[in-house]
Amino acid sequence: MEQTGSVNRPESARCYERAQKVILGGVNSPSRAFKAVGGGAPVFITRGQGAYLWDVDGHRYIDYLCAYGPVILGHAHPEITATLTRAGEDGILFGTPTTWETALAETLRSAIPSMERIRFVNSGTEAVMSAIRVARAATGRNKIVKFEGCYHGHSDLVLVAAGSGPSTVGTPDSAGVPQGIAEDVVTVPYNDLDALSQAFDHFGKEIAAVLVEPVVGNFGIVLPHPGFLEGIRDLARDRGALVIYDEVITGFRFHFGGVQTLFGVEPDLTALGKIVGGGLPIGAYGGRAEIMERVAPLGPTYQAGTMAGNPLSMRAGLTCLDILSRPGTYEKMDLLGDRLEKGLLDVAQNHGVEVTINRLKGALTLFFGNRPVHNYEDAKASRSDQFARFFHEMLNRGVHLAPSKYEAWFLTIAHTERDIDETLEAADAAFAAVAKD
Ligand code: PMP
Repeated sequence: MEQTGSVNRPESARCYERAQKVILGGVNSPSRAFKAVGGGAPVFITRGQGAYLWDVDGHRYIDYLCAYGPVILGHAHPEITATLTRAGEDGILFGTPTTWETALAETLRSAIPSMERIRFVNSGTEAVMSAIRVARAATGRNKIVKFEGCYHGHSDLVLVAAGSGPSTVGTPDSAGVPQGIAEDVVTVPYNDLDALSQAFDHFGKEIAAVLVEPVVGNFGIVLPHPGFLEGIRDLARDRGALVIYDEVITGFRFHFGGVQTLFGVEPDLTALGKIVGGGLPIGAYGGRAEIMERVAPLGPTYQAGTMAGNPLSMRAGLTCLDILSRPGTYEKMDLLGDRLEKGLLDVAQNHGVEVTINRLKGALTLFFGNRPVHNYEDAKASRSDQFARFFHEMLNRGVHLAPSKYEAWFLTIAHTERDIDETLEAADAAFAAVAKD
């Protein structure tokens, strides 16, 4: 594939060269490298404002990466900037309780009532890892069931790939994860209650929890089939296992609360991250009081953090959720999402390119191919070559998507109809290039 990046973005290419000499792979998170889209230098960004990013070569992009989800207000929102300035002036870290922690926890609990007791951590990874530990402590069991293709951070237990079916344990999905850990993980296909039921039949009383993205964000946006979340709840309840919702992406993405409050199916434990920190590092986990009370200092399950609940993240989170709670925010993103989805479908069709779009409100994934996407196998079957071509064509026309066919396009309250229309113009040319290949 043609790599126009170094021609169009010589400064990014230079920055990447320099970074690679000191930062492993030039990136601090592997998905930022362009490995899944044929390589080349990632774009080095110097500034963001509203729905736009500017790179070191001076190009402007409409941003749909949105930092993989946290950026829902757009960049440099003036109220977030003001909050951070005030927080800086007040001192940024005390290692003591503050009332901002309580206020943010109260806001989360009133929007997501199943989170009766909450703990703040620093990332989604920590939130899920800690929720799993509590679930194991609460049930006295070790095994976790997760769904193929879902991502839950980089702790050992969730870096496990599927075994050969619901009656086998997994295998490490990363060098450095011991087989012993993988033996505690059973992975089944998303939207497949039969497979989950078989996993329970086989492992019965060993299963501590079922861990699930209630709407998938990590092999593209994929919705649960009607009854899937209820089925998970009922099977788990029957067998004495807990349910953990990983709402790190979905929390406050689609409405003011979690998918659990949108769909009315509650888990025992919830992990949050991303949006709830207003763009600063954050994670949070919580659930029923009697489960959470097993965590230190009240109980024997240990979990801690120097930066946990830090004032910058708490205050940015409070401001972000305050803005999101105002009338019309989610409706606006839903309408823009609708315009984007319809527009992309139209333009793709005009060029005879087969696509499938999965969307929930202000987040969508464009899969290349006509196979509906209900699980990871479906997502894998979508065309990587066409996505890679489309990605680079869009980037060269000023639209920054996530560099992987498995990611979502995220909207913010800063995007406008004009931005969508400009995106569709770029897509028109990008689909034309895809059609020519
Ligand atoms: N869970 C989900 C659903 C995620 O999408 C992610 C990150 N993309 C994580 C957990 C891990 O969060 P973090 O990167 O903040 O550790």
